[in-house]
Amino acid sequence: MNDTKPVIEIRDLHKSYGALEVLKGVDISAPAGHVVSMIGSSGSGKSTLLRCCNLLEDSQQGEVLFEGEPVRWKGEGLNRRPADPKQVTRIRTNLAMVFQQFNLWAHMTILQNVMEAPVTVLGRPRAEVEAKAREYLEKVGIGDKADAWPAQLSGGQQQRAAIARALCMEPRALLFDEPTSALDPELEQEVVRVIKDLADEGRTMIIVTHDMRMAHDVADHVVFLHQGLIEEQGPPAELFGNPKSERLQQFLSHSA
Ligand code: ADP
Ligand code: MG
Repeated sequence: MNDTKPVIEIRDLHKSYGALEVLKGVDISAPAGHVVSMIGSSGSGKSTLLRCCNLLEDSQQGEVLFEGEPVRWKGEGLNRRPADPKQVTRIRTNLAMVFQQFNLWAHMTILQNVMEAPVTVLGRPRAEVEAKAREYLEKVGIGDKADAWPAQLSGGQQQRAAIARALCMEPRALLFDEPTSALDPELEQEVVRVIKDLADEGRTMIIVTHDMRMAHDVADHVVFLHQGLIEEQGPPAELFGNPKSERLQQFLSHSA
């Protein structure tokens, strides 16, 4: 039995933007060492759900738990906010996010990009962070690019730098929002390779992706989101091999 708490867990989460209800009661859980993939059409709420996990978005109802510890709220409904900024910082720094558009700082070298948050947010000693940063850049295969500027790198290299930057926070889990969507197919594979390595290492990850092959190959559990609700979920072999919901069947036939 695995009696450790999931790194991140969402229970019955409701989220609206004004009158638009985007998440209508969603549960998701990422146990330690597991990879959860989230798939679904554009606009189904995948990015919103991911951003609710690390409290980049507020939600109006339901719970968010980090390693079993519930987020404490103040206010209700559209006025609900996290009550404790320190708790928010702790959760956010432990759930490192990797975005579709890399979001590297253009005016910093790759090494500076990777070092920035551990030094300024976590207050770790520079020398120690630099050693770690170089290690993670090696790990994602761009150790030779430490002194380059983001604009000098290919998209695939920039995304690998963004992954190294996330790793350098030494987070409890990684959240990926369509990490390969902005990349040409040949560059996509070098990023998929890195993500597979992280999965093999037993990293806890939630990966939103349009890449069904990657979802199939790396995930322990796949969640299909449809119009703000989980329509179907299960192990990848089941979900992709024997989809039950008609909506999922339709979605998969369009994304082959
Ligand atoms: P996905 O990532 O699955 O494509 P999103 O979570 O980005 O979906 O969006 C879900 C819905 O929420 C969409 O209808 C989108 O237009 C809407 N939405 C997303 N962000 C905002 C926002 N900041 N303000 C208003 N509506 C938003
Ligand atoms: Mg999205």
